[in-house]
Amino acid sequence: MDVVNRYITINNHVNGAPQHSVFELKASPLSLSLDPASNVVIVKNLYVSIDPYQLNRMKSFSASQKTSDFAVAIVPGEAIDTYGVGKVVASTNPEFDKGDIVVGLLNWGEFTVIKAGGMLNKLNPMGFPLSYHVGILGFSGLTAYAGLFEICKPKKGEKVFVSAALGSVGNLVGQFAKLSGCYVVGCAGSKEKVALLKEKLGFDDAFNYREETDLNSTLKRYFPNGIDIYFDNVGGEMQEVAVSNMDINGRVAVCGVISEYLDSKKRAAPSMIEVIYKRIKIQGFLAGDYLNIFGDFLSATCDHLRTGKIQPLEDISDGVESIPSAFISLYRGQNIGKKIVKIAEE
Ligand code: NAP
Repeated sequence: MDVVNRYITINNHVNGAPQHSVFELKASPLSLSLDPASNVVIVKNLYVSIDPYQLNRMKSFSASQKTSDFAVAIVPGEAIDTYGVGKVVASTNPEFDKGDIVVGLLNWGEFTVIKAGGMLNKLNPMGFPLSYHVGILGFSGLTAYAGLFEICKPKKGEKVFVSAALGSVGNLVGQFAKLSGCYVVGCAGSKEKVALLKEKLGFDDAFNYREETDLNSTLKRYFPNGIDIYFDNVGGEMQEVAVSNMDINGRVAVCGVISEYLDSKKRAAPSMIEVIYKRIKIQGFLAGDYLNIFGDFLSATCDHLRTGKIQPLEDISDGVESIPSAFISLYRGQNIGKKIVKIAEE
């Protein structure tokens, strides 16, 4: 049987803000009748992840591109891989059967053909919606969990600051930190997001960074005695002022620097004098390096979801054609929580 596989690609490299004109919806026929010797799995994609780092892959050059298999450059015209959940529709790989629900590296498209050795695992949804396994129970959740617990090691009563706090990673960092007994303040780019942080997610406080004229005084207002942990999702000026407002022995997890992705000349220059004299630890990390704690992360997060101690926050668009606008929305601050595209019904 043949199907038509529609998928998103770029027609050129993207050096700057992503625009609709760079994306193309392509269609190509795909045969579901496999050669028995092929050792291939064909997955019907159900939910795919939309993440800021894809922009660094779309650039003609980014320092990130040679650092990890997940970060390699995207070739214009080719399918774009991403984390996602799907259903096996054909398989000659003995580990997978037709009908299996799977999670792994799929495409921004309707189907993915995965050769032997591709990143794909059977998924036990454990009673949770499949979309959770793309976000809160997937890499976004692992990023928040690993960055907070492995790098920042929060202690009860410590003061935590999170940027892009209503985003996919940030909202979970704040919720995990609250469960660890920390005082948590987040920043985000709108009044509505600030209200959600305080009223729905239980942050102690939050502010709209776009309304603040002097971020240094803003942080002094929220942290008069200094910040113990800064979970950095944005880089740029916020990183500089956060470092200046750290307490002695503060820890900074540099998760992402989205404010620098659009302009390669923009770089944070935090005060190294403060880093030295306040003995601040600043560490970058990649979630993919923490697969060894995936089991711990999954079991802790599932428990918190079952007991209602953590609120999932998803922002789901429908259909493969919505992928470009879903991606662009991240750079316009329009997503509320984890941005996902639902490609098809199970
Ligand atoms: P996200 O926060 O759900 O979405 C991006 C958010 O960033 C937007 O909603 C917007 O929120 C904010 N933003 C966009 N442009 C900005 C700018 N110029 N200045 C300040 N804020 C801006 O995305 P996410 O998936 O959770 O990712 C958050 C960060 O973590 C990103 O930097 C990403 O690259 C990084 N990340 C790293 C890893 C890792 O392994 N290290 C894994 C996943 C993600 P506002 O309304 O607050 O502006």
